[in-house]
Amino acid sequence: MPIYEYECSQCGVVTEAIHGMNETPTVECESCGGTKTSRIMSACSFREGVTNEFRQAHEQAKEVVRMRRDLKENYGVEKVQMANNTAGKTFRDIYSDVKSQGSGVAEAIEKTREQNKQRVREKHRDWTRKAMQRTTERGIEKRNRRLKKEQEKRAIQTPIKTK
Ligand SMILES: [Zn+2]
Repeated sequence: MPIYEYECSQCGVVTEAIHGMNETPTVECESCGGTKTSRIMSACSFREGVTNEFRQAHEQAKEVVRMRRDLKENYGVEKVQMANNTAGKTFRDIYSDVKSQGSGVAEAIEKTREQNKQRVREKHRDWTRKAMQRTTERGIEKRNRRLKKEQEKRAIQTPIKTK
């Protein structure tokens, strides 16, 4: 069976999957659980049989899936992002935190993540506003300069009549 690599569009982690050549399964990201993964070409995507290394990776991926299900079904934790911006915690960290401290931990992490996202959004909005302001100011300056030049030109063209 061929081994394929799927890259997660959400967090960029590559998950290996083993399936038939004509199958197009939805491969869940082993890192964040996202389902928006797309197959990537790898130099050695086809191996005869399943190597121990792969079997291990496969087991690990399956374990993550089990952990996610556990969190969802037993702790009501739906959203656990495992990207690096999740308050510096890996999925495994969050999982053991939830196991020992309850679902509030995951919610707190999710909240921190949302706040970070919000902060980035605000920063970006602020930056855009400032950039627009600068552009407007520059536009007004340019216009004023042009008007002044036109005025000067007109003053030269229409000399003051003297008696
Ligand atoms: Zn992912």
